[in-house]
Amino acid sequence: MFDVTVLGSANLDLVASTSRLPHPGETVVGRRYREHAGGKGLNQAVAAARVGASVALVGAVGDDEAGRRLRRLAADEGIDVAGVEIVDGIPTGRAMITVDADGQNCIVVVPGANATVTADRSPAATVLLAQLEIPIAAVVRAFTAARAAGSMTVLNPAPAAPLPGELLAVTDLVVPNEHEAELLGGASALSGRVDVVVVTRGAAGVTVHDRGETWSEPAVAVTAVDTTGAGDAFCGVLAARLASGEGLSDAVRWAAAAGAHASTVAGAVPSLPTATQVRSLLGATR
Ligand code: ADP
Repeated sequence: MFDVTVLGSANLDLVASTSRLPHPGETVVGRRYREHAGGKGLNQAVAAARVGASVALVGAVGDDEAGRRLRRLAADEGIDVAGVEIVDGIPTGRAMITVDADGQNCIVVVPGANATVTADRSPAATVLLAQLEIPIAAVVRAFTAARAAGSMTVLNPAPAAPLPGELLAVTDLVVPNEHEAELLGGASALSGRVDVVVVTRGAAGVTVHDRGETWSEPAVAVTAVDTTGAGDAFCGVLAARLASGEGLSDAVRWAAAAGAHASTVAGAVPSLPTATQVRSLLGATR
């Protein structure tokens, strides 16, 4: 039995920096190239593991070097990767990102192996956390089984997609950012269908709709340099703290501090904090 099972994507991000984005049919010469681990599933699993939760990741990668790298990275974080299937004949998911000098970007995500994820290998956990970069049918199946087993189910509806009633019916907490909440019809519409709706609002903090009661958690004041990974830090740490038996408001406070920390460091995985780093941010502000 794990504290947290994360059902989700794992990608290799290929990032080219250029002075400007190319027009259709044009070639521009890049200034820099980097590769890093990504995918909301992998990021959120690492976030939960770094603050001390026992974590299993369920997903899929291709039988290729990228897939082996991602599995190894997760295992090195102490994550159980038995549920990360290695599929033949389909590449590991990739995000091909071009960033210009002003920080504007163009992104092509190729789901690859992520599109083949099923919930068949989801091990039991106190909290099951999923996002929508894998087939929604797998999330519905896993949440239905987790609910029947008495687990808590947490959905980060990213990227935003219409949520079938059968999924909302087996979701305990839904955690959209402001943009996703709006695309899903607004927090009040969602809160009529799921017990707890946690809307993350970047530097404006968090608003929680908990069974008819609404309250806010302010953001921790930090100097943000790159907010990539803030939402993933938030979701992974929220799941980890809820799994430890902590109440919702304390878990949200930890998650917000983790999101704030992530916004002070470039990249996603490198920006995810340890429990000590979260505690020192919380201690510094209260
Ligand atoms: P996403 O990355 O999914 O868009 P958010 O930007 O809402 O998610 O970030 C998640 C949480 O991380 C926020 O609710 C907030 O608590 C924290 N956070 C994000 N950006 C900042 C920031 N600039 N300053 C302080 N906290 C931040």
